[in-house]
Amino acid sequence: MSATLRVKTSRRTELLDITRDVQRAIRETGVQSGLCHLYVPHTTAGITINENADPDVPRDIEAAMDRLVPKDGPYKHYEGNADAHIKSTLTGVSLSVEIDGGELRLGHWQGIFFCEYDGPRQREVRVRVVRDDLS
Ligand code: ZN
Repeated sequence: MSATLRVKTSRRTELLDITRDVQRAIRETGVQSGLCHLYVPHTTAGITINENADPDVPRDIEAAMDRLVPKDGPYKHYEGNADAHIKSTLTGVSLSVEIDGGELRLGHWQGIFFCEYDGPRQREVRVRVVRDDLS
């Protein structure tokens, strides 16, 4: 069972909470127990899990990523977005979350964030839901 989420970002560096969209995609599969695998098919974006209770947390991560890997640096890549490629590699482009009772089994303060590093753009997140054999 698979789906593709469309993500529209509005800033160059932006962590976007997609937890509800992922949860909706899981509900549509009807799977109660299994694994949800998320994959970002882009080279200047990523995906991560972190706190979504305090909106300052994703803003702090965005600012820290921009400080760690500045846009202008001694890069060779001709496109001018080497920082975004590096941030993508630091973040990673896939993750998996358990599904229990038809719900994502995240920690209490956790949310799933799409990480934009070369926006604003239209992006995709591929969702693959794998049902447990015994469910
Ligand atoms: Zn590039």
